Formats: sequence, C-alpha cells, structure tokens
Amino acid sequence: MTMLSKLFLLFLTIGCTAQPRPVVTPASPAAVTRTGTGFKVDASHIEAITPGRTQKIQAALQLFERVMNDSLFQADLRRVKFYFDVPNDPLRKLSDQQVVDRLYAAEEFYQKGKDSTASPHWIIKQRSKSGYGIGYADQDEVEFYTFSWVIDEGDLAGIAGIAAHEWSHKLGFQHGFGEDPRERESVTYAFGDLVKKHAKRLQD
Ligand SMILES: [Zn+2]
Repeated sequence: MTMLSKLFLLFLTIGCTAQPRPVVTPASPAAVTRTGTGFKVDASHIEAITPGRTQKIQAALQLFERVMNDSLFQADLRRVKFYFDVPNDPLRKLSDQQVVDRLYAAEEFYQKGKDSTASPHWIIKQRSKSGYGIGYADQDEVEFYTFSWVIDEGDLAGIAGIAAHEWSHKLGFQHGFGEDPRERESVTYAFGDLVKKHAKRLQD
C-alpha cells in the first residue's frame, strides 16, 4: 500500500469515528510524497582520483541535496509526466506520484530502507574527451563510473544532474538506448534534467 493510500485510509477512519471537530488544514501533497526538507545526499562513497575532483563532486552532491529540498523543484517534479521507454520495465505501472515517492524514499537496491538518503557510489575514471561518452554504468552494479574530463569540464549543476540520473538507476529506473524517441522523458533523464535545471537556478 502506498503512503498516499495509507494516509487516506487513516483519514477516512478518523472521519467515520470522530466527533465533529474544528476544520483542520488537510495534509498538503508535499506531506504525503515525503518531499520536504529532510532529504539527504551521502557524499562519502566517491573515488575521484584527485582531491580537487573529489571536492568538486562533493560540492555538486550538496547542490543535488539542496535541489531535492527546494520547494520550486518539488512543485516542478510533481508536474512531470514520466514515460517508460523500456517495454518490459517492471516499474512501468507506477503512477507519476509513485515515481516521485520512490525517488524521495531513496531505497537503493544495495541499501535497503526508505531512508530519504541518496547514497551514490561514484567512481571517476581517468579519460580525456574523445568521443567515448561520459561514462558507463550497469543497472545491477552498486557503482557507476564517469570519465574525468566530464568532471574537469563540467559545471556543478551539470554534475549534479549526472549524479541524479545515475543514482536513480539504483532505485530500479531504467531507459533504453536511443530506440525510442521519447527516451528523454524516462524517469532517469527527466529527473536528471530537472535537477540540473534547478541546480543552475540555485547556483546563480
Ligand atoms: Zn542512464
């Protein structure tokens, strides 16, 4: 049962049994989606070759955390219509609301528990820009890998967006590889792009 239906059921139960009472403000959508100001990003699992890169990634992860706790970002995220471009995706039946709940619950496959804490395990590989993309990741592996030139050349907002995208894979979200023109609307891309957009706003 989702958080939303649990709360709703609780409300119904109270509504049926309680004596008339003063009108109270109903729970806002923010309260039931676990969004708010309590989301954390754990920046302790980073291997970035040099202290400078480690610091840059830590700053980007702090920005990611700030975005997740930002009310304008949360409002924007709740308006997104997510698209599942992988035909057999076991998560494709999730509603948009359930997707947001899952992101904020932050339960990675390797770290059980809805702890509202993103724990990315991020490894930077030394590689100069040469057309091999920005890195690689396996959905079933704890770590994800990004090439050093991306960190060296990227701004904090862009790096925060990459973190959001790659980390969301560890919650089970996936995307295809260019077969579907709507791939960019998948949870991983839409979430990463929105984090980047709001990170830019908060940074300026
Ligand atoms: Zn991806």
